[in-house]
Amino acid sequence: SPIVQRVLRDRAPLAFRYAQSGNPRLVEALSRHHGIDSSRIVVGNGSDEIIDLIVRVRAVPGTHNVVAFKPCFSIYELQTRLCGVELRQAPLLPDFSFDWDSLLKLVDDQTAIVFVTTPDNPSGWCPPVAEPEALARALPPSCLLVIDEAYMDFSGEQAAHSLLGRLDDFPNVAILRTFSKSFGLAGLRLGYGILPEKLADFVRRVRLPFSVNILAEEAGIAALEDTVFRAETLRVTAEGRDAAARCADQRRKARSCAG
Ligand SMILES: *Cc1c(COP(=O)(O)O)cnc(C)c1O
Repeated sequence: SPIVQRVLRDRAPLAFRYAQSGNPRLVEALSRHHGIDSSRIVVGNGSDEIIDLIVRVRAVPGTHNVVAFKPCFSIYELQTRLCGVELRQAPLLPDFSFDWDSLLKLVDDQTAIVFVTTPDNPSGWCPPVAEPEALARALPPSCLLVIDEAYMDFSGEQAAHSLLGRLDDFPNVAILRTFSKSFGLAGLRLGYGILPEKLADFVRRVRLPFSVNILAEEAGIAALEDTVFRAETLRVTAEGRDAAARCADQRRKARSCAG
């Protein structure tokens, strides 16, 4: 975003300072952006950091297990294994859609976390919100459902795909978002979790105090305000996606003619 670039140049002289611990200005900006209480929001050095912290705070090695699809976003797997926690995985269906039943079969009383990515990476698979909703209701209350929405901005009508607007009804759901994709700030490392309040409190307490640096914080606040850049990013991406889909479609047809 050109606005973010200008803010980074203007604020570069601030780099001698530490950021304010917990990045309260950014958290407030996110709270206004989503209409969600700031007590639930934790920012991190990319949402990768939030994934790492959730695993470390929630899962006890030798006791708990973590459940995800296979394949899944690599960081769930790496951080779970690094913590010495058992990882259980249910294969995706052949068309890359989610087999909720086989995922649920892996869950037991010792399941601390279930990770689901929607829209999924790399397939783009994005189920209607009723599906993660049914999963959240089916899980034992002791199990946290982490819905990683790194790409949710690209899904069109968000209310049709995301539980973000109704978290009050789902006390065992956490949602992850990032500035790396639709905001175009991957290199600055900035992501956040919208967590159950108690978990947010624990995660905030163990997070290294300055993991989100002062320039990333300034950039994040500015990025939320640059709605023009964001709308254009989403438009261009959707256009490219449609073109790729048309191209794949033509190739399929050409192949079936040849056959
Ligand atoms: C990119 C991505 C992330 C991590 O984003 P960062 O905020 O850059 O750490 C998390 N989950 C998924 C599914 C991603 O694709």
